Amino acid sequence: NYPVYGEITGPIVMIGFGSIGRGTLPLIERHFKFDKSRMVVIEPRNDEAELLKKHGIRHIQAHVTKDNYKTLLKPLLTEGEGQGFCVNLSVDISSVDLMKLCRKHDVLYVDTVVEPWLGFYFDKGMDNSERTNYALRDTMRKEKARNPGGTTAVSTCGANPGMVSWLVKQALVNLSNEIGLKFDEPSQDDREGWAKLMKKAGVKGVHIAERDTQRTKHPKPLNVFWNTWSVEGFISEGLQPAELGWGTHEKWMPKNGKKFKKGHKSAIYLEQPGGNTRVRTWCPTPGPQYGFLVTHNESISIAEYFTVRDKDDAVTYRPTCHYAYHPSNDAILSLHEMFGNGGNAQPVQHVLDEDELVDGIDELGVLLYGHEKNAYWFGSRLSLDQARKLAPYQNATGLQVTSAVLAGMVWALENPKAGIVEADEMDYKRCLEVQTPYLGPVEGHYTDWTPLDGRPGLFPEDLDTSDPWQFRNVLVR
Ligand code: NAD
Repeated sequence: NYPVYGEITGPIVMIGFGSIGRGTLPLIERHFKFDKSRMVVIEPRNDEAELLKKHGIRHIQAHVTKDNYKTLLKPLLTEGEGQGFCVNLSVDISSVDLMKLCRKHDVLYVDTVVEPWLGFYFDKGMDNSERTNYALRDTMRKEKARNPGGTTAVSTCGANPGMVSWLVKQALVNLSNEIGLKFDEPSQDDREGWAKLMKKAGVKGVHIAERDTQRTKHPKPLNVFWNTWSVEGFISEGLQPAELGWGTHEKWMPKNGKKFKKGHKSAIYLEQPGGNTRVRTWCPTPGPQYGFLVTHNESISIAEYFTVRDKDDAVTYRPTCHYAYHPSNDAILSLHEMFGNGGNAQPVQHVLDEDELVDGIDELGVLLYGHEKNAYWFGSRLSLDQARKLAPYQNATGLQVTSAVLAGMVWALENPKAGIVEADEMDYKRCLEVQTPYLGPVEGHYTDWTPLDGRPGLFPEDLDTSDPWQFRNVLVR
């Protein structure tokens, strides 16, 4: 009795069968009509071969590479009648190249990150501005500008990036109602209307504020990196420069902060790794907490989406936007050890599955701050226990991501000629409608907390007491 949202008439090609691929498969089985004999998973590892066999899914054990992707994928994507769907849940494969190939052959596409080909993240020959998500996202936006419209390719549609862009809109509507603004809700295509609404609501910025309290049965041994989702993905992004959408209310920039020379310039980066950069933020369970300012696509896309310009194209408003991530305690310890060892990752890397964890929740939401009600957190507070009951093969973190992939796929089927889109450009209500049954409690919480609370303590600090919500006060220095 699960709703079937539509039919995928051609082959389904899933690339990568790690923690997210494994969790997405049962949701595809539940919610779409499709021919199982025409689904294939491309995954170089063999650990989950039995699971694929159990589900009757063909497994091609191979790496997709820059050299083989066209010859390997084209026959699979275009085999037989109907319209194919490529679900890219891998690492180290260029999202933009895959999108281009899919769109050329009228195949629908979804991914959860703008991923580059193998080697990009650790290329010492590149300067740090080139290793940012600003640069990666630009490659996708350029392709969109060069080839507008056409077959739908949904970019970066996981929990974050992805779902949080839908949460921002819902949170903004809730807040605007709460403070008594007179407004008509902007339509899906009215980007400017949404940006003006955020400005009118007085929002200075948005934290993607997350607290993962999922705990393991056994303590983490030395020399292993444990995480509740891709270790490879987390290490790659953690070693990219810290990066954030840069709001118009900011009066101060850190000394190692850099502006971009090209493009829309809605973000800045710091000459330090995001996985070793802390910020002050707030989530319902812990209240005030530290989070890591790890770079993410949504920090840039949300800041750009909610930018207001005047008739001369000068920016009159933009929110600051960044990730403030408190991963699971084991992941924090893993990061700590990795940075302590010169940024060299542990030899054993492992994603914790639902059976290795005992309890906890992944609390992932958006904190809209700086307005007359101070700050408003809105998001999912999904527990491990609930995740286990809702869908197989995943922990709470995984289900927040896979249900967003599901929503992205539904939206693509319902809007097959929308071109390349990011979550900000999709119908947030429809996407949340599909996703919410998998999110546990979705709640809004107001708080009086600000990053100036309890400061300065016993030591002098460089603070801006005239405005608590300055990045100067948020960044831990
Ligand atoms: P994972 O590390 O568990 O799995 C990735 C899989 O890709 C692995 O099984 C690996 O063998 C496979 N792979 C590696 N190279 C490949 C290649 N060349 N060809 C085919 N497969 C290859 O990662 P995960 O947790 O499943 O995450 C998958 C992707 O989703 C990552 O890119 C991750 O960053 C992203 N992600 C996004 C979000 C979000 O909210 N947007 C959240 C979690 C993960």
